[in-house]
Amino acid sequence: MIQRERIADNVYSFQSEVYAQVTAGAVVGPSWAVVIDTLALPEETLAIRDYIEQELSVPVRYVIDTHSHADHAWGNCFFPGATIIGHSLCRNYLEANRSTLDDVRRQNQSYRNVRLVLPQMTFDQGILNLRVGKKTLTLMALPGHSDDNIAVLVEEDRVLFAGDAAMPLPYIVDGEVDDLAASLKKMGKMGLENIIQGHGDIVLRGEIDNFIKENLAYLSNLKKVVRKASRRRYPQEILDEATVESCGKSRVLIGGLAGELHRRNLRSLYRKLYGELPTPSDEDEDEYYDEDEDNDDEE
Ligand SMILES: [Zn+2]
Repeated sequence: MIQRERIADNVYSFQSEVYAQVTAGAVVGPSWAVVIDTLALPEETLAIRDYIEQELSVPVRYVIDTHSHADHAWGNCFFPGATIIGHSLCRNYLEANRSTLDDVRRQNQSYRNVRLVLPQMTFDQGILNLRVGKKTLTLMALPGHSDDNIAVLVEEDRVLFAGDAAMPLPYIVDGEVDDLAASLKKMGKMGLENIIQGHGDIVLRGEIDNFIKENLAYLSNLKKVVRKASRRRYPQEILDEATVESCGKSRVLIGGLAGELHRRNLRSLYRKLYGELPTPSDEDEDEYYDEDEDNDDEE
């Protein structure tokens, strides 16, 4: 159900085989470990916990949430002895979306034991350092996918757990396109060995430049499409024509979700920059009223 990979000494990543290739990580010291994100399904998070606590024989003392989204932070409750760390906004968003978890618990048996655990330790500016055995973790904001996204750099290994600031297809519905572009550029200058994306495969040193370039190009294509659409009477037509491939990415990415995520990116960016998209029925109504305006004396 999950794939485990050893990235460097005492540094691991885990990838879901069932939901959106979402990832988590762990940095393990001699007497305790840090987990970076939990996975979407409770049994996947439990598999990570069992691996660390039973096979590596150390307890998990800290869990770092890279951001508040359910597929990364709803497993906090499976580490009852750990302190949860996140951006202060991550805590706010988890709290604000409490009812979503209540709904899911009612609808889906496998979430019945999940309860919300908010980060107890938060920060919003600068960096936070955490020493784990011989490793130094540097936590820093890396916004764009969401404004609460943080990344964790393992300094000694130059390994970056980027949260969803790194994805095979950038996703900006809860974030800001320009913030994400800035975060990608920042990653490109960090001298990294590996980027652990929030979803998808590990980006290796030799692939990083191209990864950054392609993701920046995709974001700039999104902006171009939306700008073009804004000049048309029926913007939706332009958005529909702009397939994920025409913006430089493949639809098979993220377990085949890329096409749908791309649609949502376009719609949300349009709304943010130009307001609500006129729907076909709105347009029809407008035309009707236009035609009717001449003999409209009574109103
Ligand atoms: Zn995610």
